[in-house]
Amino acid sequence: MLKRFRLEEPESVKDASDFLARHGESARVYAGGTELLLVMKEGLIQYERLINIKNIAGLDEVKLDDGVIHLGALATHCKLASSTLLQERLPAFVRMEKNVANIRVREVGTLGGNLSFAEPHADPGTVLMVLGAKLVAGKSSSRREIPVEKFFVDAYETCLEADEILTGIRVPLLPSHSAVAYLKFGYLERPSVGVALFLAVDGGGKSIADARIAVGCVGPAPKRIEEAESLLKGKGFDEASRLISKAGEIAGDASQAISDLHGSQDYKEHIVQVLLKRAFHQAYGQCQPGGKGQGGLHG
Ligand SMILES: Cc1cc2nc3c(=O)[nH]c(=O)nc-3n(C[C@H](O)[C@H](O)[C@H](O)COP(=O)(O)OP(=O)(O)OC[C@H]3O[C@@H](n4cnc5c(N)ncnc54)[C@H](O)[C@@H]3O)c2cc1C
Repeated sequence: MLKRFRLEEPESVKDASDFLARHGESARVYAGGTELLLVMKEGLIQYERLINIKNIAGLDEVKLDDGVIHLGALATHCKLASSTLLQERLPAFVRMEKNVANIRVREVGTLGGNLSFAEPHADPGTVLMVLGAKLVAGKSSSRREIPVEKFFVDAYETCLEADEILTGIRVPLLPSHSAVAYLKFGYLERPSVGVALFLAVDGGGKSIADARIAVGCVGPAPKRIEEAESLLKGKGFDEASRLISKAGEIAGDASQAISDLHGSQDYKEHIVQVLLKRAFHQAYGQCQPGGKGQGGLHG
């Protein structure tokens, strides 16, 4: 049962941050409440004050801002999945958003809440990692941008300071002849393995100009796997195809997979390898000159 708490309803990031600074550990912000209210109902954690940040204007915007896609932290999964801008520019992200949780959670759950809660079995952090996204955190008198790789510290732990609010996510536009694929696997309520791959090919489409790989859900936090990326970079398609199993093996080993209800460590590492191979073929086909993904981001 949900215990009594005081509700604050600030209308600015500054006011919300001031509340957090003033009330310390006894207060917590919430957005959709799909995670926080659940753990409070189950009695796993209690706060004397909850700070509803949904009344802060503009924090749910999704827009193109100075050549960068800005995703407001309060944008719900449904809003992101139905954004025309994202359907045009970040279709892989849209596809991922359409498959987050269930319709009830997507309707009220926010991207900012998903990232800030840092529940290990989540999708967006892994995809944002290969997109080269930066997370924007604000407090009373300052604002900073955090590369997504630095944001996640551990399971349920981020680098946000106690009085910081996540206000948005900045995603750079992707180069021509590039594509993103995100594949996940699971049989429980939340995903068990997620693999994201960004690929760019050279002008002729013959070789891999750039690659970014991230693995999520298998360990405490999503992880970028640079060692596997470097195996693919600069290689022609045939050679990269031969090396993709090795890259998958490296990604599995480096993913910090743990054995839990979702499967054993070995099993998860194997699934990482399988998904990376599939993601490679999917992304490669889409980033070809003249291919479906030319000039943007597809998945
Ligand atoms: C049944 C179920 C299935 C799910 N399946 C999936 C899935 O398949 N894939 C997936 O990725 N996710 C999944 N989720 C997680 C879901 O995406 C999140 O629950 C949702 O996005 C959280 O957003 P929220 O706004 O409700 O967060 P809230 O519950 O409001 O907040 C969560 C935490 O984040 C903090 N917080 C919220 N917003 C901010 C902010 N702007 N700045 C700083 N801190 C903030 C809060 O203090 C709290 O600690 C699932 C959840 C449920 C309940």
